[in-house]
Amino acid sequence: MKRVSIFGATGSIGQNTIDLIRRDKASYDVVALTGGANIAQLAHDAIELDAEIAVTAFPERLEDLKAALAGTGIIAAAGQNAIAEAAERPVDWVMSAIVGAAGLEPGLVALKNGATLALANKESLVTAGALVMQTAKANNARLLPVDSEHSAVFQGLVGEDMSSVERIVITASGGAFRDWSVDEMTKATPEQAATHPNWDMGQRITIDSASMFNKALEVIETKEFFDVASRQIEVLVHPESLVHAMVGYKDGGMMAHVGPHDMRHAIGYALHWPNRKDLPVERLDLGRIGQLNFSHPDPARYPALRLAWDVMEIGGMAGCIFNAAKEKALDAFIGHQIGFLEMAAVVEETLLQLSADSGLIDAEMTLDTVKETDTLARRVADEKIQARKG
Ligand code: NAD
Ligand code: MG
Repeated sequence: MKRVSIFGATGSIGQNTIDLIRRDKASYDVVALTGGANIAQLAHDAIELDAEIAVTAFPERLEDLKAALAGTGIIAAAGQNAIAEAAERPVDWVMSAIVGAAGLEPGLVALKNGATLALANKESLVTAGALVMQTAKANNARLLPVDSEHSAVFQGLVGEDMSSVERIVITASGGAFRDWSVDEMTKATPEQAATHPNWDMGQRITIDSASMFNKALEVIETKEFFDVASRQIEVLVHPESLVHAMVGYKDGGMMAHVGPHDMRHAIGYALHWPNRKDLPVERLDLGRIGQLNFSHPDPARYPALRLAWDVMEIGGMAGCIFNAAKEKALDAFIGHQIGFLEMAAVVEETLLQLSADSGLIDAEMTLDTVKETDTLARRVADEKIQARKG
């Protein structure tokens, strides 16, 4: 039996992971499940999967969780420290599917304990790529990608040597506004941005897809995960979202990964790796689909994307600053405080101001220095947001 924990179990990725585990309960021993405000879902899944412990991120919801788990013998806990403690419980495999920088710490704890970490939380690699990779290496723990593009690259590299790789191309759907003009995008509302044409995902990543902040995070994630140079990474808009990524080799050949828009493919690949198992996803009929389209992203409509290359150029803590400022800018957009295209402006201004401090950028990367930089970047981003409101 494989011992597994799921961080962010109540979210979109978490629920897709549970869907796969539920179909084959006898093969898994579920240890920890964590969630947020959806106590009913968390308790339901913890009971169904007979978890050892369920943790909500919110201390004020602990009593509700305890009540929902009364008499089951499942431990109820709450708060970020409790999530990190739950990550200490020995397991073979961990799904990291909390959204945002909050996903970093439990992932690091799991790696320190030698667990295989299936990483959906892209913010971990963007915020603290060097620390995550080094923690995995030092503890002989394996990191497996779950983001569909990175799973696709990972699969495209099987049996190949990294020295043969010339470039990595990741695709972007173009999000909710792929056919909108800059003018229309300037006026876009959070409700409009939260509708994805192809994928069913959490609200935050869906808005990040419309702005391509999601793709910017994924470009940085690609660099950190596969240890390639920033000039080797390319992004193509591919409205059908069926080719998730391509690895270009030095002989001119490319390995493209094609699959349905269903995160259970990438989650299942990470769950069963190094084997492949039957998965309950659609089998594509490319004859019926007929056409696959590709184009270069328009920098005027997707200003967030260019920032990824700035971040990679600056290096060090730039990714942490970028992600923290992006999370703040996204909150401000969702709260109707700033416009859609202003998110990239807020992030760029924050990055510009803080990257002038080389002591900050080049500080040794530890969980503490990352947390401090994250707090500082959120404060500076807030100032930029206030300045725009006033
Ligand atoms: P979601 O919003 O649906 O779920 C997020 C989960 O994290 C929930 O369980 C929520 O309770 C929990 N959570 C939220 N804030 C928290 C906090 N501060 N502390 C602890 N827990 C918290 O998000 P999602 O779409 O499932 O995405 C999860 C992660 O996977 C993100 O990093 C996202 O970028 C990445 N990802 C998602 C998809 C997708 O298809 N949804 C694809 C690729 C990568
Ligand atoms: Mg992705």
